[in-house]
Amino acid sequence: MRPALLGKTIEELTEVALSVGLPKFAGKQLAEWIYLRRATTFVEMTNISGKGRTALAEQYCIGRKQPVAEAVSEDGTKKYLFETAEGQFVEAVYIPDDDRATICVSTQAGCKMGCKFCMTGTLGFHGHLSATEILNQIFSIPDSERLTNIVYMGEGEPCENINAVLRSIEIMTAPYGCQWSPRRITVSSVGYIPGLKRLLQESDCHVAISLHNPFPTERQEIMPIEKVYPISDVLALLKQYDFRHQRRISFEYIMFGGKNDSLRHANQLRRLLKGFDCRINLIRFHEGAEEKSNTHLSLQGSSPEQMIRFRDYLSDNGITTTIRRSRGEDILAACGMLVNALQEKE
Ligand code: SF4
Repeated sequence: MRPALLGKTIEELTEVALSVGLPKFAGKQLAEWIYLRRATTFVEMTNISGKGRTALAEQYCIGRKQPVAEAVSEDGTKKYLFETAEGQFVEAVYIPDDDRATICVSTQAGCKMGCKFCMTGTLGFHGHLSATEILNQIFSIPDSERLTNIVYMGEGEPCENINAVLRSIEIMTAPYGCQWSPRRITVSSVGYIPGLKRLLQESDCHVAISLHNPFPTERQEIMPIEKVYPISDVLALLKQYDFRHQRRISFEYIMFGGKNDSLRHANQLRRLLKGFDCRINLIRFHEGAEEKSNTHLSLQGSSPEQMIRFRDYLSDNGITTTIRRSRGEDILAACGMLVNALQEKE
């Protein structure tokens, strides 16, 4: 298969241009065609010589691939299935919300992290996505031009595929690329420290940490990562960075009835996050996720009243806390529900 240009940096595109006999400045032209004008064929690149375009088409492809299936939720959320170069399938979710439109992208096919409440975790790991495949989800959904925000919260642990994630962020934010502000991008992580360190050092985008329980032994029951990279180490790392200004840190907290929603938990959460300029997003647990997951922990969602009490306690204690509205539950597009179900409709 011919190498893709989507996902290449300006330096690499310049090398591509030189390799087919084009002048050095054609690298910049290629970047403009691919990242700003969103060209899907070489024929469109009218300021590049005909001979150059033919040579490019012989040796390279653009790297754009349309989704192979789609589902639309009654709330307007749309889920798309993409096939990877390795023949795996991944999902991306488009979430319109008033003047915002967010895409939730996958970074791996399946996931290794094995969180007990997550349907994606039940898929097992089937490979890393390349930067081309991450960017293609953003570029190739029908509503791509409307997007205002990107969240790396789909299938996979982004920090475990950090090279491709950082490359895709560079291209989305670089002056030669899509010129997005990094403040419109949020990367979520369970706290895979080696990759998280690089994300913090090498990008300016927002970070969301999946916390879900402030007590290490209880957290480990639902998130095996706690054993390898304890949340205390993750927080110690985060404390070295400045989140008081433009860059934001948030903590995701799925609420399980009787498991992590007591006052004891809220109080410990408050202690743990003391001194952090952060926000907590409380997320309703989707029970369908547990049914299909590989656990017998019999998890169920907290009641709306308990979620409100939990939120109010934290807010009253000075931590901005919100209850996140669930989207796309009817098409299994909500948090932790991505299992490539669309693949079965193929
Ligand atoms: Fe992987 Fe995220 Fe699911 Fe955990 S919650 S298994 S990190 S996809």
